[in-house]
Amino acid sequence: MTSLFNTETTVKTFQNPQAYLDSYNVSAGVQKFLARQHELFIGNVWKPASDGGTVPVIEPATGQQVSTLANATVGDLEEAVSAARSAFESGEWATQTPLARERMIHRLADLIEENFHELATLESIDVGKPLSEAEMDIQGTIDTYRYFAGWATKITGRSGEPAGLEGNYVAYTRKEPVGVIGVIVPWNFPLQTLAWKLGAALAVGCTTVVKPPEVTSLTTLRFAELALEAGIPAGVINILTGKGSTVGAALASHKGIDKVTFTGSTKTGMSVGHAALENMTRMTLELGGKSAVLVFDDCDLDKAVEEVAFGIFFNAGQICDAGSRLYVQDSIYDEFMDKLVANARSWKLGVGLDPETMIGPLVSDAQYRSVTAMIKTGVEEGATLLCGGPIDDGITNYVAPSIFGDCTNKMTVVREEIFGPVLVAQRFSTQEEALALANDSEYGLAATIYSQSLNRVHQLSKSLKAGSVYVNAQSSIDPAMPFGGYKKSGFGRDLGAEQLDYVTETKTVWITLP
Ligand code: NAD
Repeated sequence: MTSLFNTETTVKTFQNPQAYLDSYNVSAGVQKFLARQHELFIGNVWKPASDGGTVPVIEPATGQQVSTLANATVGDLEEAVSAARSAFESGEWATQTPLARERMIHRLADLIEENFHELATLESIDVGKPLSEAEMDIQGTIDTYRYFAGWATKITGRSGEPAGLEGNYVAYTRKEPVGVIGVIVPWNFPLQTLAWKLGAALAVGCTTVVKPPEVTSLTTLRFAELALEAGIPAGVINILTGKGSTVGAALASHKGIDKVTFTGSTKTGMSVGHAALENMTRMTLELGGKSAVLVFDDCDLDKAVEEVAFGIFFNAGQICDAGSRLYVQDSIYDEFMDKLVANARSWKLGVGLDPETMIGPLVSDAQYRSVTAMIKTGVEEGATLLCGGPIDDGITNYVAPSIFGDCTNKMTVVREEIFGPVLVAQRFSTQEEALALANDSEYGLAATIYSQSLNRVHQLSKSLKAGSVYVNAQSSIDPAMPFGGYKKSGFGRDLGAEQLDYVTETKTVWITLP
């Protein structure tokens, strides 16, 4: 059997978090923030968990504790939902004009911009991602708030004419904020995903109770301080750090919220969805993916190699729409795979704050064990590990960029989301075969086509069952365009004008005239 463990690659390790932070001259401000015992943010007041409980923050670079979060209780949740309800129904937020909301969201974006480097550094330390990637996340966060700030003054209904109803009527619709939104966020892009949820919610006048991911909550807490500084009124944004299994589950099933917006795994999303449905709580579910990448022999091969590698190794493959299932046309399969393996071997592993790092450690020991187990399954099921594998130094959680060849759609590694830097590849001969292979999945978050044929691109874009189709590039994402999944990748959409429909109710008003 092929050895799973990558013995060629070594990664620099550190004695402890302090040695790591000092090696990269992390500012005194960031170090002070890390050293704090963090609290919950309810009604614009910082307070410890009601039972004093805490959760350690483990730094991916060293595997040691770097900070401490409060572990919210169900009692804390009651207080937060009540603060959000008051702010929505009668508080200062309910009486703001759209222009005032727009100004406040822009002010928040200004403050994020002013603290750009500090936030990017915190995100890199907390998630383990390269600083350059964390900077992209913070820029995406700013862009998202600014995009939705512009919508605050443009939420309108429409006037209508009855189609068959006889009589004299004035009919129109109103778009009203859905109310209090429970927001549950995963750990891979914590601050940016929060912006995907809060931007639209704040623009239309909703209030929120946020459950950040327990392993990466730090930038969300710093963001709360900035929200306070921006003048966002009490109760509009409440932050409850802690365990998904307790406070997350209690939030999803809480009768006091009007909507839950969840991003995370399909398994957890299904339990959130069931809980929400019990109360007819509205929901948006952004879930897992196993996105197909189709490479045709008429593509720009070298560019496709670069893009495919980026699409699976960026953020150590911990990306919901990672292009993780690769299908390459027979005639170019060998050449393409040789170049792709060479590219994979060129990714430099290291700690997030090292400017030379291209791929950091996985976010946690649990994630490392899960990805390692999937690689083992791939080998056992007969796929060929062409490069990569976990690094077994007993200290860190690195997995080198890994590619499996000779896969089939029956294999577990092809059917299930791995959520690590692991690509599974196989051949196809015709366009029809490629389409059938791509659509043969429970997931439908994204798909990518590499081809120069206009006809092929349009035919496939129409037939692929995926919420986003990328052509000749991976993961193009922008706040102006909606994002979400088909099939078990969820339902509802974040981003774009489409998201506004998911944070508002539509009311129809009929006035009968004499
Ligand atoms: P996860 O489902 O384990 O956790 C997501 C969030 O849910 C966390 O905040 C967690 O604390 C909370 N949670 C856990 N159990 C809960 C419960 N019983 N009830 C309510 N909340 C609970 O996901 P993760 O491991 O943090 O993130 C990785 C997953 O997220 C992957 O499957 C990935 O594809 C998916 N994801 C999807 C998108 C998208 O836009 N579709 C984006 C990013 C990540």
